[in-house]
Amino acid sequence: MKKIAIATYNSIEGYKHIDRTASEHNEVYLIQKHLDKEEGFANEKDHYSAIDDIFLSLGKVNADKVVMYIGLNGIEKAISILYNHRQEILPNTSENNKFTFVTCDCGYEIVKEKFEGLFDNIRIIKSECGGDKTLGAIVDKIIKSGEF
Ligand SMILES: [Zn+2]
Repeated sequence: MKKIAIATYNSIEGYKHIDRTASEHNEVYLIQKHLDKEEGFANEKDHYSAIDDIFLSLGKVNADKVVMYIGLNGIEKAISILYNHRQEILPNTSENNKFTFVTCDCGYEIVKEKFEGLFDNIRIIKSECGGDKTLGAIVDKIIKSGEF
């Protein structure tokens, strides 16, 4: 049984308020902040504490694979946490495709440049702004076929 964590400070379409689901070969942990609006945070501080929460949850799940949405606003914060705590979040980061980042066009180039420098093997999937639909489709695929 592989543990896959899907994490976002927004929400996952079709799976709102669901924390965990499973298929034959995977346990899927859904870490989301249940925000409906694209610009969901009143200020940077709220946004940053949401990102802190997400990484705390990821540390507890100790997943085999992580899929994470990062938009332009969260990038700097996410990079600093990943840089300092990546061993706690993902003990074996060298495994292929262990970390998948989902990002929209707004932040794509920055995510690609910064995160490819942090990890040897990451995958980047383009999404719409907010990422809710793309993440929902990824969870659907994992449940149906085990792959995404
Ligand atoms: Zn965008």
